[in-house]
Amino acid sequence: MFRMTPNIVRNLVVRKSTRMYPVEVREPFAQVRGELFNDIERCIFCGTCEVKCPSQCIQVDKKACIWTCDPFACVFCGVCVDTCPAKSLYQKTKYRSPTGERIIISQQGQPRKKDKAKDRAGESGTPKGSGEEKADPGGDPAT
Ligand code: SF4
Ligand code: SF4
Repeated sequence: MFRMTPNIVRNLVVRKSTRMYPVEVREPFAQVRGELFNDIERCIFCGTCEVKCPSQCIQVDKKACIWTCDPFACVFCGVCVDTCPAKSLYQKTKYRSPTGERIIISQQGQPRKKDKAKDRAGESGTPKGSGEEKADPGGDPAT
């Protein structure tokens, strides 16, 4: 007991290494990879982020132009941001606020101009086999 006393006294006096999070929040570092955000107006729904995400927390519905993300599964790695060809993804410099609710982020975008042109061509009776059908760039969007 006597051997422990100095340690006990010191721990009562010195500043603690831990914080009372979330009451006391540390300022993030300058280049912290924080909350993920999609500027849906720029998104082209290519699906690259879905393919590249190591935690599989992104889903892209290419036809419906819906981008969905489970922020609780995100590990803030930044791979999706680095590989997004449209530069629509970015990470804020702060972390998401703690919450007790399970949320899924779902954003609805607009079809790309190319798709709109395709739709118009379809409406105006473009014959099948004219090349429109083969125009699917598909394949692996990650390549
Ligand atoms: S990689 Fe970028 S452009 Fe492609 S679906 Fe994801 S957010 Fe949209
Ligand atoms: S930051 Fe990483 S884990 Fe989070 S959505 Fe992007 S690729 Fe997935």
